[in-house]
Amino acid sequence: VTTPTISIHSEGGHFPLVARNLAELRQRISGRLVTAADEDFDTARQTPSLNYDRKPLALVRVANVFDVVEALRFARYHDYPLAVRSGGHSIPGYGVMDGAVVIDFAEYRKVEIDPVARKARVQTGATSADLAIPANAHGLALSTGDTSTVGIGGLTTGGGVGYLVRKYGLAIDNLLSAQVVTADGSVITASAEENEDLFWAIRGGGGNFGIVTEFEFRLAPVGDIYGGALFLPLTREVLRGYLDYIVRAPEDLTTISHVMHAPPAPFIPEDRVGEPVLQILTTWTGDMDEADQAIAPLRALAEPVSDCLGRIPYPEMYEWMRPAEQRHGAVVRQMFADSLSDGFIDTVIARFEEAPGPFTMVQLRGVGGGAMGRVPANATAFAHRDANYFVAILALWFDPLEDPTPHRAWAEDLWAKIRPEGRGVYVNFLAAEGEGRIREAYPNGTYERLAEVKRKYDPANVFRFNQNIRPSN
Ligand SMILES: Cc1cc2nc3c(=O)[nH]c(=O)nc-3n(C[C@H](O)[C@H](O)[C@H](O)COP(=O)(O)OP(=O)(O)OC[C@H]3O[C@@H](n4cnc5c(N)ncnc54)[C@H](O)[C@@H]3O)c2cc1C
Repeated sequence: VTTPTISIHSEGGHFPLVARNLAELRQRISGRLVTAADEDFDTARQTPSLNYDRKPLALVRVANVFDVVEALRFARYHDYPLAVRSGGHSIPGYGVMDGAVVIDFAEYRKVEIDPVARKARVQTGATSADLAIPANAHGLALSTGDTSTVGIGGLTTGGGVGYLVRKYGLAIDNLLSAQVVTADGSVITASAEENEDLFWAIRGGGGNFGIVTEFEFRLAPVGDIYGGALFLPLTREVLRGYLDYIVRAPEDLTTISHVMHAPPAPFIPEDRVGEPVLQILTTWTGDMDEADQAIAPLRALAEPVSDCLGRIPYPEMYEWMRPAEQRHGAVVRQMFADSLSDGFIDTVIARFEEAPGPFTMVQLRGVGGGAMGRVPANATAFAHRDANYFVAILALWFDPLEDPTPHRAWAEDLWAKIRPEGRGVYVNFLAAEGEGRIREAYPNGTYERLAEVKRKYDPANVFRFNQNIRPSN
């Protein structure tokens, strides 16, 4: 579908097509406008992050694509900053900005599954759970992230690395097409056949190129999995064995692991609560009969503190990340790595002894040796496909009154120590870390190619609250 392009910045004259003020915008949209005058403004502007408390001019809770166009034109014509929010989980909090018109997809989250064609049409505000639960009813799943409330909008435009990555690749590797509202207010389709340059860029380039309103995905035949969590004592041998096995295991096995404190939970023996452990979140998508054999090398690393693995419906994996759904503060630093030395392991274990809080974690994912790496590095804007490991420092806190300083200091110290072992960064785990780090997300000419696409689709940099790519000159 292509709507006629309307020039927003024509000189002088009357602009009947653009709302003159917020009251008029409120009249024109089918969705709901929330401003400081509305009772629910404070809840509407809240995000899951304790790091920020921003006051936008208005949130446009869109009900259809026309609302998106209307709000975009309004913001552009009146020169208001424009932010885009789907699930609201942006690590730098870019979904809600001070003084901005926020295009808010919180109520635009319909999911349609076609079980025969194994496809899903997903409105961009849908969360990972909004899709996973109805898809599971048909024995299907999309490879998304680890937390149920993360928005498909932000997750997909950055790449989408999750529980199925070794077998089914990134979320973007399963994207067939997207409906996109571009900076000039056009509604266009991006796919392998139409606007291929845009399709390439929105698969990893973040929200720089337009506002995605709908995605069409191919789904994988994943219903029940053998999965859950395995808690092992945190030792050098356990970490070494885990890292070595997980990138050469059968690719039906994907894991996301956390160096963390054993939580106070019914599945942890009381006398081991608080002990440093490696929590291995495990997803096995192969034959159930072969699951035990595939997981045996992990179980053999040490006597488990707790073994909570078994046959479960895929969406139950999200139960293990419930704490991350709650409002929390975080200092996050991420890198990819080809290999991780014993020195890295020793540093992580030693520094974890000085962890600044009970919820501090170091996340380790084995992403190599599978489907992600089979897609050529230049096929999408996600350019770290040859990496074996995904390493993230996650210094978290849940008390809104907590001082973030010790978390920041601890994270920065560990980051300085481990950084030489890695390279690059996943754009969706990037905080506000400056231009150099954005370029690290897009190595080997990827940044320059994105800048060209940016110049074509958003030369005025309307979409700038993101890991911003400057339009090329
Ligand atoms: C607890 C937690 C767990 C996570 N786990 C994973 C994981 O396992 N795997 C993974 O890959 N990532 C993960 N992430 C990172 C996550 O993918 C990013 O933070 C992502 O940007 C969040 O998307 P959102 O829609 O929820 O956030 P929002 O704050 O709504 O959006 C983030 C940004 O994405 C862009 N954007 C959002 N919607 C659109 C749209 N419709 N069109 C164009 N641009 C848009 C905008 O630039 C926006 O500022 C996690 C993050 C958190 C906080």
